[in-house]
Amino acid sequence: MPKLPEVETTRQGILPHLLKQTVTRVIVRQPSLRWPVPERLSKILKGEALQDIQRRGKYLLLYFSCGCLILHLGMSGKLRVLSQAVAPSKHDHCDIIFANGVVLRFNDPRRFGAILWTEDDPLQHPLLVNLGVEPLLNGFTSSYLYRMTRGKKVAIKQLIMDAKIVVGVGNIYANEALFLSHLLPERPANSLTQKEAGALVANIKKVLRQAIKVGGTTLKDFLSADGKPGYFAQQLKVYGREGLPCYICQQRIAQTRQGQRSTYFCIKCQQ
Ligand SMILES: [Zn+2]
Repeated sequence: MPKLPEVETTRQGILPHLLKQTVTRVIVRQPSLRWPVPERLSKILKGEALQDIQRRGKYLLLYFSCGCLILHLGMSGKLRVLSQAVAPSKHDHCDIIFANGVVLRFNDPRRFGAILWTEDDPLQHPLLVNLGVEPLLNGFTSSYLYRMTRGKKVAIKQLIMDAKIVVGVGNIYANEALFLSHLLPERPANSLTQKEAGALVANIKKVLRQAIKVGGTTLKDFLSADGKPGYFAQQLKVYGREGLPCYICQQRIAQTRQGQRSTYFCIKCQQ
């Protein structure tokens, strides 16, 4: 499943090719994605110039003067920018063709992705309106996280993975950020001090920024926006390292399950 860093990498990868370009045609080969692709998309977008691409959580927002295209990559979606005509393959469900000859191609074998259109503020769309703060923006501060943890007995790992509190902190990033913060994943959220909350916020930002820098980390194949395969996984300090020695203290990394997700930690470093 594409994660926030991959969606951000995709945004940064496709933006320079498409910005200010005018749509000439939209080809929808498979309208049955997670929700139906709007039938009139080609009519709506023809002659419209793309004004900006922003990201909210794992949604990409393609802004036109007449409205906004909301894209989600679901479980297996990929966006590619093609500079010349390439015959579509099986799961290439939608092409947006621009006047400069560039094609934005949406591929999604499992079809849990989404292509939606809104003429209203996309941030108020039902899918987006209840999302928590963006982890890399100024709203995600130590005082915000500290406030959110008050009165909550839930494990801190589960709290930081709750998209209603902060978006985009997937399992890998939660494990890594807790390790860097010397916090046990099972710690009740309300036991964190303000200082610990501050360290955790800083380390969540750090691991996400690192992942964006190396182009996103994933356990499955991922094509970058220009179609070249292969992002290098960033060096993970605990995730997936059960039984291996901790890089700091040589203690063997432990693994447990929390809410169906694997948790990795060093019992010595995270006390
Ligand atoms: Zn250790």
